[in-house]
Amino acid sequence: MTDRAHKLSDKSLGMDASITRRDFLGATLLASGAQLLNQVSPVQLLAKQPHAALPGSTEDWNGYGGVGEYADSNGNTWEVLRAGHKLRDANPSAFLKDAADTGELYDCVVVGGGISGLAAAALFLRQARPGSKCLVLENHPIFGGEARQNEFDVDGYRVVAHQGSAIYFVPYPRSFLADFYDAIGLHEPRLSYQAWGGSGVAMTIGRTPYDSAGMSTGQYGFWFGPKFIANDSDSFSGKWLIDPVGRKFAGAPVNDAARAELLRWYSGAAADHSKFAPPQYEGDEVSRSLDAVTLEDHYIQRFGLRREFIRKYLSPDLGGGSGLGADALSAFSEYAADLLHPYEKKGEAVQMFPGGNTTIARLIVKTLIPTAFAGDPTPDGVTRSPINFAALDRAESPSRIRLGSTVLQVSHEGDPARAGSLQLIYEKDGKLLRVRARSAVMAGGNWTTKHIIADLPSAQKTAYSQFFRSPCIMANIAVRNWRFLAKLGISGCRWFGGDIGNYFELRRMALVGDVPPQITPDSPVVLTVKILFSYPGLSTEAQGHRGRGELLATSFREYERRIRNQFSQMFSSVGFDAQGDIAGIVLNRWGHAYLSPQPGFFFGTGGKPAPREVLRSAPFGRITFANTDLAGAMDHRFSILEARRAVSQIFDAVLD
Ligand SMILES: Cc1cc2nc3c(=O)[nH]c(=O)nc-3n(C[C@H](O)[C@H](O)[C@H](O)COP(=O)(O)OP(=O)(O)OC[C@H]3O[C@@H](n4cnc5c(N)ncnc54)[C@H](O)[C@@H]3O)c2cc1C
Repeated sequence: MTDRAHKLSDKSLGMDASITRRDFLGATLLASGAQLLNQVSPVQLLAKQPHAALPGSTEDWNGYGGVGEYADSNGNTWEVLRAGHKLRDANPSAFLKDAADTGELYDCVVVGGGISGLAAAALFLRQARPGSKCLVLENHPIFGGEARQNEFDVDGYRVVAHQGSAIYFVPYPRSFLADFYDAIGLHEPRLSYQAWGGSGVAMTIGRTPYDSAGMSTGQYGFWFGPKFIANDSDSFSGKWLIDPVGRKFAGAPVNDAARAELLRWYSGAAADHSKFAPPQYEGDEVSRSLDAVTLEDHYIQRFGLRREFIRKYLSPDLGGGSGLGADALSAFSEYAADLLHPYEKKGEAVQMFPGGNTTIARLIVKTLIPTAFAGDPTPDGVTRSPINFAALDRAESPSRIRLGSTVLQVSHEGDPARAGSLQLIYEKDGKLLRVRARSAVMAGGNWTTKHIIADLPSAQKTAYSQFFRSPCIMANIAVRNWRFLAKLGISGCRWFGGDIGNYFELRRMALVGDVPPQITPDSPVVLTVKILFSYPGLSTEAQGHRGRGELLATSFREYERRIRNQFSQMFSSVGFDAQGDIAGIVLNRWGHAYLSPQPGFFFGTGGKPAPREVLRSAPFGRITFANTDLAGAMDHRFSILEARRAVSQIFDAVLD
C-alpha cells in the first residue's frame, strides 16, 4: 500500500457503507494468527483458536454472504472450517465412539456434494439395481462445492456471479459428456447472451471473466501501481495504459526489456518463437516430458521469456488455473484440460451461466431428486425455481442429499478385503451420527479424504501425500453501474503492483433466469477478482501452506479495505466513488481451492506410478475415489469423468 493510500479514510473508502458485515475477527484471534503465521501450519493455527471465542467472531471472518439461497455459504465458511478441523484430530476414536446410529444402510454413500459427488450419485443410480439407495453427505449448507454462486440485491435488481467454478465447454455431440449434459437437461449447451444496449458503438464485452475480449479491440487497460512509476513514488493513482497492445506498450513504466516481452506475450507474437508441438493425448511422449519440468522452465524454453519477467508480469496468472505461479507447477498442467477436446467447430466452445457451473450442480440435483425444484428440468427451470430443501433428504427417495454433514471417519466393518459393509461417521448440527453403506465414493477432495479413511493403506496414503492444494479467494464486488469503465473505454483490465488481485472483466450474461436482455454502462454488475497466493521460490507444498495461513488470519474487513482501496486508486480519476458505487462485497475463501500439480504429478517420477494412478487404479475394499483433483486439473468435466470411473469400479469389483 502506498503512503498516500494509507491516508484514505475509512469513510472515503466507504468502509462504513451499509453492506451487512461485522468488524474484525476477535482481536485475540487475529493477533495470534498474524504472529503464528510463519511458525505453524494453518491447521495448527486453527487448533489454537479457543472454540468458545469463535461464535462471536464468525461473521467477522465470513463477512457478508449476499442474499438468497447461497447467503450463508460463501466459500468455506468458518463453521465448515471448524467442523472440518475435527477430522484432523490426532485421536478421533475418543469422540467417534459416541456417534449415534441412524439405523440407515445405503447401497452407496458419496462423501462430498460438489459436481463430482452429485454426478457419482446420478451415475450410480442410473446403473444400480432397481430399489437401490444412495446418500450424499456434504459439509456446506448447500450443495455444489466450488460450483456455487453469490447473489446480490442492487437497488432492487438481482445480480449473480460464480463463487468458483465458472465456465463449461461445449462437448463433442456424441461424447460421454454430451450424453451426461443431455441426461441432466442441458440439451443445448450453446447459450444466448445479453446484447449491447448502451448508446454509441457497441463495446466489446466477453461472455466469461477469462476472455480478455477487449484486448483485440483496444478496450482493455493495464494499470501500473505507484511502485512502478519512477520518481513518483508518492503518486496515488498509478498509471493507466489503455489499449496496451495497440500502443505497443508505449508509455508503460517498465524497462525496455520488459516492454518488449510484454508486447510479445500479449500480442501473441511469443508463439512465433515456438517450434513446440503440444501433446496430442494424455500420456504421449510430449506430455511426459512436459511433466518432468516446471511450467516456468517450459515457458522460458518455448517462448524465450526471462524467468524474472514471468515472475513479475505473468505469475500467478500464468498457471492461475492451478492456483500457483509457473515456478511451482508441472508444465503439463497447462495442457491437461485441453486434451478433453472442446467442440470448437462453431467457435463457441466456452460457455457460462450467470452463476457459473452452479446451474450444472442444480441440474444434477433436479435429476437425482425431481421434487428438489418445482420448475422444469432445464437451466431456466432450476434457476428460477427455489430449492425445496425439505425434499433433499426424504426416506422414500432413492437418492438423498444431507447437507451440513461433515464426514469424520469412514471404515470397513471388518477386514477391508472381505468386509461386506462400511460405516461412516459424520457431524451434523453438533451431533455425531453413523450410517452404514455397501460402498462409498470419496468425492470430497484429497485434503479431507486422506484424513478420514480410518484404514487407508500406506500406498494410498503416500499417494495422497503428494497432492498439494493451494488457496484462493474469489471476491465478488457488486457495483451499481460501470460507467467508470466505460469512461476509460475498457471492458476489462489487469493491474501490476496493486494491493490485491490483478484482473477482472465485465461479461455479457447468458439469458437464463431473470437476466435483462441488454447490458449498458448503467447496469449493475458483479466484478470478480481472483486472489491467489504465490511465493515463487518456495516448494509447491510450502506455497499452499503459507497462503492458507494468510487467508485464515486475515479478517473480512482487512480484505474489504484493500479491495476498496485498489478500486479507488485505479478508478477515482474517472468518477468511481467506493462509498456510493460499491453495493456489496462477498469473499469466497477457498482454503484448498486448486490442486497444484508439481512436476511428476501426472506421470510419476523414478519409475514409480503417478500418485493419482495409485488412487484411480482400483477400489480400496469397498471404497473408490473421485473428485476433479484425481485428474490433476481443476475442471468440472474431470469431476464428472472421475465420478464415472469411480462408480464403474463399484459395479465392476465391489457390489454383487
Ligand atoms: C476458483 C476456482 C475457479 C474454477 N473455475 C472453473 C471453471 O471455470 N470451470 C470448470 O470447469 N472448473 C473450474 N474450477 C474447478 C472446479 O474445481 C470444478 O469445476 C468442480 O466444481 C469441482 O467439483 P468437485 O466435486 O470435484 O470438487 P468440489 O467442488 O471441491 O466438491 C467437493 C465437496 O465435498 C465437500 N467435502 C469435502 N470433504 C468433506 C467431508 N469430509 N464431508 C462432507 N463433505 C466434504 C467439499 O466441501 C465440497 O463441497 C474452478 C475451481 C476453483 C477453485
